[in-house]
Amino acid sequence: MALIVQKFGGTSVGSVERIEQVAAKVKKFRDNGDDIVVVVSAMSGETNRLIDLAKQISDQPVPRELDVMVSTGEQVTIALLAMALIKVGVPAVSYTGNQVRIHTDSAHGKARILQIDAQNIRRDLEAGRVVVVAGFQGVDEQGNITTLGRGGSDTTGVALAAALKADECQIYTDVDGVYTTDPRVVAKAQRLDRITFEEMLEMASLGSKVLQIRAVEFAGKYSVPLRVLHSFQEGPGTLITLDEEDSMEQPIISGIAFNRDEAKLTIRGVPDTPGVAFKILGPISSANVEVDMIVQNVAHDNTTDFTFTVHRNDYQNGLQILESTAREIGAREVIGDTDIAKVSIVGVGMRSHAGVASRMFEALAKENINIQMISTSEIKVSVVIEEKYLELAVRALHTAFELDAPAGTAE
Ligand code: ASP
Ligand code: MG
Repeated sequence: MALIVQKFGGTSVGSVERIEQVAAKVKKFRDNGDDIVVVVSAMSGETNRLIDLAKQISDQPVPRELDVMVSTGEQVTIALLAMALIKVGVPAVSYTGNQVRIHTDSAHGKARILQIDAQNIRRDLEAGRVVVVAGFQGVDEQGNITTLGRGGSDTTGVALAAALKADECQIYTDVDGVYTTDPRVVAKAQRLDRITFEEMLEMASLGSKVLQIRAVEFAGKYSVPLRVLHSFQEGPGTLITLDEEDSMEQPIISGIAFNRDEAKLTIRGVPDTPGVAFKILGPISSANVEVDMIVQNVAHDNTTDFTFTVHRNDYQNGLQILESTAREIGAREVIGDTDIAKVSIVGVGMRSHAGVASRMFEALAKENINIQMISTSEIKVSVVIEEKYLELAVRALHTAFELDAPAGTAE
């Protein structure tokens, strides 16, 4: 007997029929003797529809009122799911974030959960009920409805699991787990049985958008075992844990992540004096432009080159700022490039294995792919390459690190 929090996303509750399928699934777990708390998103498309309505009144709707409205999407699904459960003989009760008392700060549209009153839920579980909770929403100290940011139901699920000390938080979605890389790029990508929180964060921030990043951070912080599963297919999914114990037997690299959303900016012929990096990046960060990779060359002839990457949406802005900085500090020129991509190998196994980076560079060299920038962390090596070689690079690395599914097993 376990206490499980199950979160179902928008597509999983996208129609009445699907909600009934979810009810059947929940019933199965219940029949096994597990205690179940379900967290649901709004029906797919509903949150967007509501936001569109608000935008017809104002380009920038008042955040408090927007939250009052967008939180209704989840209120509909909790009631429908509770009804569907009761219809198949499972006692169930639904709660909004306010009714549970999911306390958040007052940052409408991106509120953070501060604390959850779990007594009501515990009482219902003890009485044999399945508890259905609205994701994505909470209430601030003044009683205002708040929402947690797009995709926030994942965070609700994890936070509830932490508050209830659940045995597992299961995230049901439209994929059957976390893959070694995007299966649309590499047909031989494989579902991972397990991955660590740290690895998942690297994979998620690099573009494998299975889970809201905040939810993974939250789960890591509170050690909530998290499992990603397909809503309507059977299978073990992917378990995300703290546990690195078995990493000796795991492949060194867990996955290949990539990102096409970055652009590169270079300032050339910068006088090599103390404080120059600050002079270059200060104005960039003041403009709220986030910088990812940074490379500064070793100086020769008393000048240096400085290159960094930003999100592509910030490219024009960054370029303009850099040009004005160049004039100020007397740098030679500014150049930019949007046709780049970042490819990363990710794995906790790197900690105990030498030569991982060189194996990566060798695989890229064999394909004649030029590396423009490199950065490393304890569990990741990233390179920037020309965008047109992205798919080739990901495939080559997937093979080089022995992640390809055995012949005949690829889906
Ligand atoms: N319904 C919200 C959204 O679409 C929250 C969620 O789906 O997790 O962003
Ligand atoms: Mg979602």
